[in-house]
Amino acid sequence: MRFIDRIVIHCAATRITQDFTEEQVKESHIARGFRTWGYHYYIRKDGRIVTMRPIGQMGAHAIGYNAASIGICYEGGLDALGKSADTRTAAQKESLLKLLHELIPKYNIKFLSGHRNLSPDLNGDGKIDSWEWTKQCPCFDVYTEYSQEFSKYQLCYQWVE
Ligand SMILES: [Zn+2]
Repeated sequence: MRFIDRIVIHCAATRITQDFTEEQVKESHIARGFRTWGYHYYIRKDGRIVTMRPIGQMGAHAIGYNAASIGICYEGGLDALGKSADTRTAAQKESLLKLLHELIPKYNIKFLSGHRNLSPDLNGDGKIDSWEWTKQCPCFDVYTEYSQEFSKYQLCYQWVE
């Protein structure tokens, strides 16, 4: 088993008005040169959790952060016009929360982050400010959403490597 201590959350960056199936995730990742789908879990708009890579295998979802992480992606992340937005459905929020409650204690997770929070720290102040984000993914603030919920685990929500 590889060493795991972190979770990175993503959006598929697809419009809320269209479906983006797990097969399409696989095709798009293969088209980008990955062996297969790069996430460990994918959460459809209806809340269904699709298991992708086995946890024991390293994912391909966050450059430089794959070795020790679990990658979770939700379908959506763009509004009908293609602008980044928190498009998570109630069912997706519920499934994501359930999955985090399962994974955090199981793997003794210490770090929980959105993909954008792993952007380079351009001014070296130890914080990743919104102007430093290289992308919007996952289009919601992971700290605001989960810091209360998971306070007992004393997770780190932002770090610079
Ligand atoms: Zn991402």
